Amino acid sequence: MIQLYIPLNFLGVIYREIKQSMADMERLFSLLEQNKEIADAENATPLQTRGAEIAFSHVDFGYESNRQILHDVDFTIAAGTTTAVVGHSGSGKSTLSRLLFRFYDVNAGSIMIDGQDIRTVSQQSLRQAIGIVPQDTVLFNDTIEYNIAYGRPGAQRSDIVAAAKSAYIHDFIESLPNGYDTMVGERGLKLSGGEKQRVAIARTLLKQPAILIFDEATSALDTHAEQAIQSQLKEIARDRTTLVIAHRLSTIVDAAQILVLEHGRIIERGTHVQLLAANGTYASMWRHQIQQRVAEEALAAEPDLLDT
Ligand code: ATP
Repeated sequence: MIQLYIPLNFLGVIYREIKQSMADMERLFSLLEQNKEIADAENATPLQTRGAEIAFSHVDFGYESNRQILHDVDFTIAAGTTTAVVGHSGSGKSTLSRLLFRFYDVNAGSIMIDGQDIRTVSQQSLRQAIGIVPQDTVLFNDTIEYNIAYGRPGAQRSDIVAAAKSAYIHDFIESLPNGYDTMVGERGLKLSGGEKQRVAIARTLLKQPAILIFDEATSALDTHAEQAIQSQLKEIARDRTTLVIAHRLSTIVDAAQILVLEHGRIIERGTHVQLLAANGTYASMWRHQIQQRVAEEALAAEPDLLDT
């Protein structure tokens, strides 16, 4: 009989909780964009990382059988170094990161981490080893603490705060009325693109992955925000094997290696200085971005220019 007296509003709370969890799960699955055809090999073993050297060896790939996206892509990222990929929209940059995360399998060639073909290791261990800072971070409808801790379930508050400090978002969080307990996401506080990216950086710092993929936001940032992101990137990339999908060349001048992709082929590779000296596609992209920046700065200084 006692069940009859359960207050209806309690059921309402449970209903809302379930709905909320479902929404979070949905977002998570769409975030993972998981391809169901990718399964662990029967005898899959956990990935063993040492320095986490990444080797793409003669990789061909297409999402559909009649359209090849990557052609004979061949490069190595030495353990603990940063490689940046640049190229026009649609050239295949993000596809490289999706393949490394094994959302899809290559059609030819292989991807190895510390000598292990990623098709032979468990997906769980592979994804554990890789931290992604995406262009657009999905926030869960929960506290900011939960959203940062998502990188490492069960993390202590002190570790979360340390990660937030390194990602330069701690002061912002402290300035909120409820601090780390502030609800964020669609039904809570809306964060700007830059703030969301900092949450993602904090999440990644907490996860401590051996490999980092940084998918730079395409949207234009002012010089100040760009410098801040650059220093954060340096912070998280230190001693990690890092792949940067770059849109602003100024953020990657220090990369050990820059790959220029065009229609899914690597057409140039080298350091910033080497590529400028080669005076090819990279050098012309660089000149173009400098001109753009000069024009933007002139416009910012004298907005009336637009009217003339
Ligand atoms: P951007 O700089 O605009 O982010 P990108 O260089 O990262 O572009 P990719 O996202 O790697 O480009 O896409 C490369 C090509 O693959 C594009 O022509 C795109 O249309 C195609 N493509 C990407 N994702 C899929 C998919 N899920 N199914 C089919 N084709 C896809």
